[in-house]
This record gives sequence, structure tokens and C-alpha cells, in this order.
Amino acid sequence: MSRIAYVNGRYVPHREAAVHIEDRGYQFADGVYEVTAVKDGKLIDEDRHLQRLARSLRELRIERPMSDAALKLVTRELLRRNGVRDGIVYLQVTRGVARRDHAFPVGARPSIVMTAKRTKGPPPKAVEEGVSVITIPDQRWARCDIKSVSLLPNVLGKQRAKEAGAFEAWQVDRAGNVTEGTSTNAWIVTEKGEVVTRKADEAILNGITRLAVLDIIRSEGLAFIERPFSVEEAKSAREAFLTSTTSLVLPVVSIDGTPIGDGKPGPFTRRLREYYQKHMT
Ligand code: PMP
Repeated sequence: MSRIAYVNGRYVPHREAAVHIEDRGYQFADGVYEVTAVKDGKLIDEDRHLQRLARSLRELRIERPMSDAALKLVTRELLRRNGVRDGIVYLQVTRGVARRDHAFPVGARPSIVMTAKRTKGPPPKAVEEGVSVITIPDQRWARCDIKSVSLLPNVLGKQRAKEAGAFEAWQVDRAGNVTEGTSTNAWIVTEKGEVVTRKADEAILNGITRLAVLDIIRSEGLAFIERPFSVEEAKSAREAFLTSTTSLVLPVVSIDGTPIGDGKPGPFTRRLREYYQKHMT
């Protein structure tokens, strides 16, 4: 089955799908995106993704290209045309095509692009054995809560992780606290068994997986607190893990080469991962 993309109202062959060179997404990274998981044909936490999309657009004063009901219809049609039952949907909205000028164009319509692809989720080895992370300075702007396509520091950070043989790079603010990964949220479990993740302020993206995991933690009555944690605290934590739409809940077993706990995925992370998988069914 050949892949089909959705571009501004049309379903087109993936290899021919394109926007104009003067699209502001291309020129200025003036746009936002969402990635939603599909499991057994079901879109996971679709409404929360749509709410975050609406928020990102509002914060950047980009017009909504279509209603949520229309977006849901297009998403389903795209999944059907691509035969995707397990995978991801990528959606991007930019401020549109206009003659290059930094200020907002007058009368430009937002561009919307959607793709769907089959994916298998994180590699079984990463789930079974856990992954390593490195730490890097957080060099991003002050509005990381907006899911903007402007991802250069994230791209550079992930590449550093890759070159270091690590799965992810945890970004560290000027106070020495971990903000988040380049495409994942960061968590630890303290010696006392308390789960810690940073509060969702403007320094991090409020992950939809993060929100679902917090719901699980609350409904299970587990101890947790939203507060910053330092690299030192993370290295001496009992467990560490990361969350995202594509990684789900993944154990972190080493930070900058320092093993976490006994260097194996911990029981708490395993349990959370199982709860999250149940949430996806
Ligand atoms: N932080 C950043 C910087 C991200 O890019 C992502 C993934 N888009 C996340 C966290 C995780 O968010 P989600 O759970 O919604 O995939």
C-alpha cells in the first residue's frame, strides 16, 4: 500500500506531498505540531492532543485551520487510506504561505499537513534492559510549553546522545535541574519511593503521556510530587524513567555513565509501564 499524506484539504501520494518554499514553517519554523499514537485502530488520548494543539496555536496567534470534529474526520480517513492500525499520526500547522517578512502576514491561511505511518513502539531491548541518557545544557527558548516545530536545540541534543551511544539527552537548566529530554519527559523515583517530575511550566512541554502517567499515579494512590530535581539527585535515585507518545514509559538505567539503582529497570517503572499499556487498550 503506498503512503498517502493530507496537505491543505487534499489526500496526495506521500512522495509528491509538498508545501510551498515560502511556507512560514519552512522559512521561520513558524508552526506547531502534534504526534498521536494509534493502537488497534484507536487514537490514544486524542482529545488531549487536540487541546494541546489548540493551546499551542492560541499562544502563537495562528488561526485554527479547521474544527476538532473536522480534524478527527481527516485523521480517521488518513489512517484508513494508509492502512494504519498501530503507529503514529503526525500533524503540523504553520502560519501559512506568504512573502518573506518576519511580522505576521495579512490574509495568509494556515497550512495543515498530516501523515500516518506504522510503527512498532520502542525496541524490546530498550524496554527490557532500560536505556541510558546523557545530560546537556538546556539551550532552548523560554516557551518550551508550546509544541513548536522550532526544534534545533532538540535536534542537536538528540544527535549528541546518539553519538554518545545514549538513547536520550536530558537537558539541564542554569540551576542544575533537569528540565526534560529532547523529545521525552524526565522522571525519577526517590529512595523514599516518591515519584518526582518537574511541574509543567514554561520550561517543559506538558507531555500527553506525562499527563496520563500522572492520572495513573493519582488513581493508584502512589506518592508523587511535581518539583525540579538536579542531575545529582537523579544519579542517586532509586529509579529513573522517561515518557513520550512513542517511547511510552521507558526505564532509564544510566545517566552520564552512572548506573541508576542496580543498573536494571526497577519494579516501579515496570509497573507503571504496564498500567500505561492498559491505559492504551
Ligand atoms: N518533551 C518534548 C520536548 C517533546 O518533544 C515530547 C514529545 N513530543 C515530549 C516531551 C513528550 O510529549 P508526549 O508525551 O505528548 O509525546
